[in-house]
Amino acid sequence: MSKLRFRVVETAFKKKPVEVVIPTERPSEYFAKNVFNKEKMFKYLPSKVYAKLIDVIDNGAQLDRSIADEVATGMKKWAIEMGATHYTHWFHPLTEGTAEKHDAFIEHNGKGGVMEEFSGKLLVQQEPDASSFPNGGIRNTFEARGYSAWDPSSPAFIIDDTLCIPTIFVAYTGESLDYKAPLLKALRAVDKAALDVCHYFNSDVKKVYAYLGWEQEYFLIDEGLYAARPDLLMTGRTLTGHESAKNQQLEDHYFGAIPPRVAAFMKDLEIEALKLGIPVKTRHNEVAPNQFELAPIFEECNLAVDHNMLIMALMRNIARNHGFRVLLHEKPFKGINGSGKHNNWSLGTNTGILLMAPGKLPEENLRFITFVVNTLMAVYKHNGLLKASISSATNAHRLGANEAPPAIISSFLGKQVSQVLQHIEESTKDDLISLSGKQGMKLDIPQIPELMIDNTDRNRTSPFAFTGNRFEFRAVGSEANCASAMIALNAAVAEQLVDFKKDVDALIEKGEPKISAILEVIRKYIKISKPIHFDGNGYSDEWKEEAMKRGLDCETSVPVIFDNYLTPSSIDMFEKTGVMSKIELEARNEVKWETYTKKIQIEARVLGDLAMNHIIPVATQYQTDLIDNVYKMKDLFPAEKAAKLSAKNLELIEEIADRTTFIQEHVDAMIEARKVANKIECEREKAIAYHDKIVPMMEEIRYHIDKLELIVDNEMWTLPKYRELLFIR
Ligand code: ADP
Ligand code: MG
Repeated sequence: MSKLRFRVVETAFKKKPVEVVIPTERPSEYFAKNVFNKEKMFKYLPSKVYAKLIDVIDNGAQLDRSIADEVATGMKKWAIEMGATHYTHWFHPLTEGTAEKHDAFIEHNGKGGVMEEFSGKLLVQQEPDASSFPNGGIRNTFEARGYSAWDPSSPAFIIDDTLCIPTIFVAYTGESLDYKAPLLKALRAVDKAALDVCHYFNSDVKKVYAYLGWEQEYFLIDEGLYAARPDLLMTGRTLTGHESAKNQQLEDHYFGAIPPRVAAFMKDLEIEALKLGIPVKTRHNEVAPNQFELAPIFEECNLAVDHNMLIMALMRNIARNHGFRVLLHEKPFKGINGSGKHNNWSLGTNTGILLMAPGKLPEENLRFITFVVNTLMAVYKHNGLLKASISSATNAHRLGANEAPPAIISSFLGKQVSQVLQHIEESTKDDLISLSGKQGMKLDIPQIPELMIDNTDRNRTSPFAFTGNRFEFRAVGSEANCASAMIALNAAVAEQLVDFKKDVDALIEKGEPKISAILEVIRKYIKISKPIHFDGNGYSDEWKEEAMKRGLDCETSVPVIFDNYLTPSSIDMFEKTGVMSKIELEARNEVKWETYTKKIQIEARVLGDLAMNHIIPVATQYQTDLIDNVYKMKDLFPAEKAAKLSAKNLELIEEIADRTTFIQEHVDAMIEARKVANKIECEREKAIAYHDKIVPMMEEIRYHIDKLELIVDNEMWTLPKYRELLFIR
């Protein structure tokens, strides 16, 4: 029965690393080889066109359509020289992946042949037949078209034979149908708001960038073992499986030596990533067995988001060349750590200032405190929304388990920053005025002038931690599009910075000096945002109680968490910042609820199939063997002795009967519960029914399956076990 299992396990353990062809050039030489970056633009575009395009990219100038044809011609020339034959608009619909539809460059040449063509029109805008992308009802297929539009701020690149052009995807009526359009709007909002605040300190700053450095965690599984697990194949996670005797308790995997097969995969991946201009820098083993991490140097947020989407696609492809499958799911295995994607976020200026980093001079530190405190205010005000931005059916397994931040957003600041804030908070108004001094700048706060931020006291339990020159949003899921979190965060900070400027200007108008006005508003904000600041252990039960008292959002049901997008304060914030309208928010929530339901529905079906096709038949077969043995013992021994010798087997027979009955009954009940839930029309209510009714049933069924795994003959068990899946070298 389980020949397949033994064969795949044996093969998996015997596989040798694939030989990787290391380029003869250095990484700095082949970096961005497949990207139409500024260097190539300079080479392939007329100088006037180049200058205009750079103005669009660097300064956010309006795209002049008249240059589109010339850009397209240059891009085509480069792409064809690179061997490309096709082009595609590449966009991020509201699914987890990216979308592309390839078209060949060829057009009729009027002489019976074909020629390579690519016009500005095709570069700038296309109408993919996208009626089957999730749209939450905005695009009724019969009445509205959707189009993709070029995003010049993220450079085109070549994958395989195709020139990929990053685009936004919007409905004909203007609503966003993707992640990129609202992200670009949020980035514009935070640029503008932060720029105004920056001008209190540095009048020469022209642009503020949001930066993102993501850290991608993932698992690698041998492809043969993967194929023998229908649950991994269909849902990306194991729906059954008892913990193996050894997993991560010896803490021997984290930063351990990278197994050769995995190292070959990583090298291959890094070479391809570098060619695509993704500045990958760090690689290491993670905490769980077979878990790894990859991180690039941080980049401008929109580009970093594109690069993360690209790298996830690359990982999936390259893993296959090495006989692996990559698992990006947040929780592929029960009982061991899941995967996240820390989003390191900060703001910086075109003049090279990192706004979340302390400086040497008092005014630099006041600027630093200003941006930190405003971020805290934004996170405090929108803590429920930020949680919603990282919530999904898959990430739900990870949050709140003792490995990842709880389902409560709070912010860790560390000792020094906490002390500075406390000092400002405790100062009186007169103190502040004297602090600000006559010339407007003489901060005598003890810690401020030489603020040395020690980023060693990192608190891994905090979902939103300050780490020296940035905040690290750790609750983001490994499979997620970072854009979701980045839209919410940048928009919330933009709103907050606008409010801050209003408050400060009001005091200045009343005659207060600028610096003391800033300090006074900051002091007020420190007091208000206090509940979000928590440096303690986020995993503890006391924190859950405390957070509740502080009024932070403690909801754990994902479909209900999504409501945070539709609260008056969220709608107001997204509309004021111009990031999303109420209609867009409503439509996107429909998509979120629908996706949630579908994910659980698929899992429930797969679990039902596994139970009925794999678990019950095997357990029953083993039980029959035991029964047979009991009868034979009776034949062999006197009744009393036979009874004594068969006592344990009789117990097992009964246990198997109890557990299989439970499983069968609950699989049936789960089907009935799904039928009831499926009849619910409202997507929100349906998702809640799936969360409240189906998810607990799956847990119960799994519990009994995992117990059976421990008692049924190993040779009969069809599904590869955790110890086999997780220890591939
Ligand atoms: P750790 O695992 O210790 O958190 P890593 O070195 O793995 O740190 O990753 C840190 C990430 O944060 C990298 O992508 C790095 O480039 C990024 N980062 C560093 N400074 C900043 C900053 N000011 N803004 C945004 N990201 C940053
Ligand atoms: Mg980190």
